[in-house]
Amino acid sequence: MGTGVSAAFGRLAAGVGCAALLAGLGGCKVAGASGSSGDGGGAHGPERGGGADGTRVDPAAWAKWGLTPMRPAPAPPADKPIKLSRKGPAKVFSAVPTKEKIVFITIDDGAEKDPKFVEMARELRVPFSMFLMDDAVRTNYGYFKPLQALGNHIQNHTLNHPVMRSLGPEGQKRQICGDQSILERQYATKPFLFRPPYGAYNLATQEAAAACGIHGIALWHESMQIHDMQYDDPAKKLHPGDIVLAHFRGPKELKGSTMTQMFAAMLKKIHKQGFAVARLEDYVRPPA
Ligand SMILES: [Zn+2]
Repeated sequence: MGTGVSAAFGRLAAGVGCAALLAGLGGCKVAGASGSSGDGGGAHGPERGGGADGTRVDPAAWAKWGLTPMRPAPAPPADKPIKLSRKGPAKVFSAVPTKEKIVFITIDDGAEKDPKFVEMARELRVPFSMFLMDDAVRTNYGYFKPLQALGNHIQNHTLNHPVMRSLGPEGQKRQICGDQSILERQYATKPFLFRPPYGAYNLATQEAAAACGIHGIALWHESMQIHDMQYDDPAKKLHPGDIVLAHFRGPKELKGSTMTQMFAAMLKKIHKQGFAVARLEDYVRPPA
């Protein structure tokens, strides 16, 4: 690991800092870069009058967090572009095929449980998906419930964050099925996406996910650090449909910065490039 994995459409997986990230923070893709949907230009669908859930945008709420309101996400398509199937190994993707200038925020692990972030999420109504890892969340499952109540989905990220490829098929299944049953019990939901720690997976991971009832594996094209974003694209640009990775982290991991500062910095970068944030689950259809 450490060198970029070439991807379709001339995008490269960022290989910078993989070893350090593997040792500590996570968030480095070490395998399985996939193609993106390509550059879609600026086609815009109908837009809602307000936030992602249809509520009105409140500029004062955004100003409170040092932000100007973002363009609301367009209404999601009736026909979800990614369709998961029960047949075969779980499907792996790092982006959603779309021409809209939208990206999808995903937040991993769950170590940091900053009450201010719940306040921020409630006020801004920017959608995100939470890939929760049991070891990180078990001290306080309840923290994530108000975030879930806002419409944000909870997805699977293993019991204790191993490099999945280092485990055999049974070990991988224990990690995914184990987290799955805990998340189902705690959050009364059935996660239908899996994210392998460090983005490292193999065919056994895809098969284990499917055996645990999860038929999609969501990777990413961008990873938010403390103030900076790492891009697969050497031109450091977002592309329509990209999945963006962030983490529940606090001042200890973010060199003094808080979760809300990290999140605000991420939104600024997305906004500056003219993108809106949409909800990943609105674009992925689980098997019927
Ligand atoms: Zn993780």
